[in-house]
Amino acid sequence: MDKENRTLDPRDWEKMRNLGHQMVDDLIDYWKGIQEKPIWKPIPEEVKKSLDEPIPSHHMDPQEVYNEFKENIFPYNKGNVHPRFFAWIQGTGTPLGTFADLMASGMNPNVTIGEHAPMYVDKQVISWCKEMMGFPPEASGILVSGGSMANITALTVARNSIKGENIRKSGMSHLDKKLILYCSTETHSCIQKAAEIIGLGSENIREIEVNEFYEMRSDLLEKQIFSDLENGFRPFCIVGTSGTVNTGAIDPLDEILRISRMYDLWFHVDGAYGALAKLDPIYENRLKAIEKADSLAFDLHKWFYVPYEVGCTLIRDSEKHRAAFSQTPNYLIQEKRGLAGGPDSLNHYGFELSRGFKALKVWMSLKENGLEAYKGMIAQNNRQAEYLGKLVESQEGLELMAPVSMSITCYRMNPGNLPEQKLKDLNREILLRIQEEGIAAPSSTLLKGKFTLRVANVNQRTRFEDMEILVRETIRIGKEVLSDLDFS
Ligand SMILES: *Cc1c(COP(=O)(O)O)cnc(C)c1O
Repeated sequence: MDKENRTLDPRDWEKMRNLGHQMVDDLIDYWKGIQEKPIWKPIPEEVKKSLDEPIPSHHMDPQEVYNEFKENIFPYNKGNVHPRFFAWIQGTGTPLGTFADLMASGMNPNVTIGEHAPMYVDKQVISWCKEMMGFPPEASGILVSGGSMANITALTVARNSIKGENIRKSGMSHLDKKLILYCSTETHSCIQKAAEIIGLGSENIREIEVNEFYEMRSDLLEKQIFSDLENGFRPFCIVGTSGTVNTGAIDPLDEILRISRMYDLWFHVDGAYGALAKLDPIYENRLKAIEKADSLAFDLHKWFYVPYEVGCTLIRDSEKHRAAFSQTPNYLIQEKRGLAGGPDSLNHYGFELSRGFKALKVWMSLKENGLEAYKGMIAQNNRQAEYLGKLVESQEGLELMAPVSMSITCYRMNPGNLPEQKLKDLNREILLRIQEEGIAAPSSTLLKGKFTLRVANVNQRTRFEDMEILVRETIRIGKEVLSDLDFS
């Protein structure tokens, strides 16, 4: 009998210690010098080839593995750690947040069940999230992988809470009326995905038209609910967005709240990006109705600058939350004492069973910075977006494409004499070159069919000067494109 004790632990602990130190050093150097480096660079073909290899079958020295990472992976990052990264809506992370993830991964608890400190850290972070969002202490919540998961978690609770029905048991097919969900035409695509997955069907989503500020029209919302009731449907939920992904628009949350109460509908807020704008005094009042929502989804990996991944769902009525998911199989019975004691298993509050210790990076970050620092950072991102808007307006040949809302600024170059198709070609080329030259990374969108550059700033490294650089480089590259391409 072979009694060799195999293990995956290091063959040489001291070598592993040194390698760990080197990783930390490399990260610190990377962050410290980040603004001097190009934001992005194309990946060479041989690098891509090195990432398309047969499965390794034998041991490789950890140092060599790391060297390969350093050569082929580390230099070709996405760029969202850089101060001029403004594409989509992507957070920067922080050094302590990163190291918290390292510690969380090293401790490696499965934060679902049991009497261990990570369970209490998770609870603590949920309490802080409730406090930040003005949810009552008796509300419940769960940390999930991100906004999409946070939204589907909340919508599942909404669906399972429909009065007089037991959808968990009977499913949807026996309902005599179709459930209808309301949102706006600007609502994030994850709401449609969620509605499809929880069995509503995309044809039972009513996308309400928006006004010139891209905000849901509550008059049309009410009309639609009325007509759905007349036609034998069963309205059940309205999703209001706090910070749309295109333009940072805020749906009329007070009005939606009023309408949801009047028709007895679940009021969910998708605040994946913009619920945290509540911490900026300029937005506090407009977002007050979040405190009255039945549920809220928001991301901590976007505007709370915590490394990927972590989002949060809050549910006003904790009993409904638990009733939507709780299950106790024989292998998950809780005890009053011992390792299987501890707080109510988190398995009762969401779909996922195994959960990592993502609470730690939020806990450490909040302790490190304090809430006041987040208020200051979020307000700064908003002021920077407004500053960019002013710069755009002050430049001949640039135009603002939507009112600046929260920290999103949409603009384009428009020399004034080009048809729409050429404006699209011009601005697309500006976008590609500004990224490829490693200067800055806006993204694009279509607003009323018009191609626009889109700058979303949830970046804790951005300085006001970066907005000046962005405008200056847009103009420089735009002029080059105009002379390079045939725009006659
Ligand atoms: C980003 C975003 C989502 C999706 O969140 P993920 O964390 O990417 O899953 C949903 N809604 C809005 C408004 C968003 O900005």
